[in-house]
Amino acid sequence: MAKILSFPAQEDRDAIRSLLRSRADGEIGEAEFSRQVVAVLRHYGISQLCCGSFRVRDCGDFHTPKGPFPIVAISAAGGQSADGRCPACGYGPGRWLRGDRVITAFCAACGCVFSWPVADEFGL
Ligand SMILES: [Zn+2]
Repeated sequence: MAKILSFPAQEDRDAIRSLLRSRADGEIGEAEFSRQVVAVLRHYGISQLCCGSFRVRDCGDFHTPKGPFPIVAISAAGGQSADGRCPACGYGPGRWLRGDRVITAFCAACGCVFSWPVADEFGL
C-alpha cells in the first residue's frame, strides 16, 4: 500500500530557501545544495517545488564513475532586472547562482531570486 505523505510544509520551503542562501554565499557547494534539495523533493515524491521567488526541479541523477550526483534546476520567479539590482527591493548587484547570458541571481538583502540578462560584451 502506498504511503501517503502530506505536501511539503512551510518548513521545507524555508529549509530550501536557507540552502539557496548558503549556496549564494558560497558556504556550500553545488553538489551539497543539490543533494539536500533532492532529499526533500524525493521524500515527498515530487519533482518540483515553488519556494516563493524561485522554483527548484529535480532533473534526475548525473552518473559518473564516482557515483550518481543529483541535478537541481533553479527557476527565477522574482522578475527580471536590467542592471543586476533586485527587482523587489533595489539592492544589488545580486549574487550569481546560474547562467552566463541570462544570470539567475540571488538578492542578499531580501532573498529574491531574479533573472538578469547581461550584455554580450564579446559578441559571441
Ligand atoms: Zn531584494
